[in-house]
Amino acid sequence: MTSPLPVAVVGAGIGGLAAALALGRAGVNSHLYEQSARFEEAGAGIGLGPNAVRRLDEWGVGKALRETACMPLALQVRNADDARELGRLPMADAFQARYGAPYLTIHRADLHDSLWQALCRQSTCDLTLHQRLREVSQTPAGVELHFENSELAQQAQALVGADGLYSQVRRTVCGEQAPEASGHWAYRAMLPMQDLPVAWRKLQMGMWLGSGLHVVHYPVRGGEWLNVVVLVEATDTATTAGWDVSRTSAQIAADLQRCMQASCNELKELVALVPQWRAWCLFDRPPVVSAAQLARGKVALLGDAAHPMLPYLAQGAGMAIEDAACLASHWQNASLSAEQRLLNYAQARWSRVSQVQQRARRNGRIFHADGLLRSARDAAMKVGGARLMDMPWLYAG
Ligand SMILES: Cc1cc2nc3c(=O)[nH]c(=O)nc-3n(C[C@H](O)[C@H](O)[C@H](O)COP(=O)(O)OP(=O)(O)OC[C@H]3O[C@@H](n4cnc5c(N)ncnc54)[C@H](O)[C@@H]3O)c2cc1C
Repeated sequence: MTSPLPVAVVGAGIGGLAAALALGRAGVNSHLYEQSARFEEAGAGIGLGPNAVRRLDEWGVGKALRETACMPLALQVRNADDARELGRLPMADAFQARYGAPYLTIHRADLHDSLWQALCRQSTCDLTLHQRLREVSQTPAGVELHFENSELAQQAQALVGADGLYSQVRRTVCGEQAPEASGHWAYRAMLPMQDLPVAWRKLQMGMWLGSGLHVVHYPVRGGEWLNVVVLVEATDTATTAGWDVSRTSAQIAADLQRCMQASCNELKELVALVPQWRAWCLFDRPPVVSAAQLARGKVALLGDAAHPMLPYLAQGAGMAIEDAACLASHWQNASLSAEQRLLNYAQARWSRVSQVQQRARRNGRIFHADGLLRSARDAAMKVGGARLMDMPWLYAG
């Protein structure tokens, strides 16, 4: 008896690795195709909500993850202008008790590596690097994949597009639409904790809210590094997205100076400690409106390919991990056709990811508010504090 064709997964970022891992745990062989010639998981720190950590724990990745991740004790939100505390949310034990998993902060490369190591141990996935998908066609037997540097088409029983913001697979599912530039930029840096004043060396997440600006920082890599992100509104946008879009030091300095004019000295001093920033122009797409945007026939989308979002809920990778778990659970139902299984996945996911995309956009407006909206937000934080900052609808999901 011939073994069934594998499920093809295009893109070996966090979403693609998570998909291959979850499928493998469900007994499904996959083939990962990645355009890069080698794994160079770039980026900086990311936050993983308990909704993501719970799934990673179920996949047996949690132990390795915790060797490099940090478990912040709390999230402290402060006013960027005068350093006043606006709210505090206890996290570590409180999240474990409430959601069955903690909130972790981790370097993206460490998360990528933990997923990859788990996948290697599973032996359910082949990986081909340096394969850039060009075109996809659906056939009665499955899916045919055509790559840029190969004449030979590859066959699969189904295709999962985990190929990020500029997804090629997306064209097959919902046609061409360019991602939207938000007008927001993220400037990111990692600072060695040992070089920082004691006040910054805390096992907690910090967030500072100013007009047209917010700053987030947290420890990563076992607490040896502080990940700092300054998010600003700018008048120009990049033509490409990426972890390190070229933007001159002078442009970055001008942006920071303009947006941080009213900021307190404490914050300015932190920013001044950064020798070099990496720039990220933030793009997203309008929130998903139906299951049809996540799957078509034997092709499904996952992660940023399906629902890129602004990082203001810190859930892009989290949603990709949730997608992967959901996809694998629906793919297990062998009595259904491939099309029906992928449709069930899309129907189970679309409203959740849409809600997260919408809330991320809304948070951008709230975090950067000015005038009356800012005063109302601060007053609400004073009264509602931890309750407003916690998100059971998200973390318990
Ligand atoms: C500033 C910032 C902060 C963030 N913070 C957080 C956070 O705190 N928490 C969180 O959960 N998320 C966060 N995110 C979002 C998160 O990083 C992404 O949502 C997540 O990494 C997306 O993973 P992905 O695998 O879907 O896509 P990607 O990481 O983009 O991976 C796509 C992969 O596909 C490959 N590929 C692309 N096209 C092709 C092709 N044609 N053929 C073959 N391969 C291809 C690419 O090389 C890449 O390896 C943040 C994002 C930004 C910008």
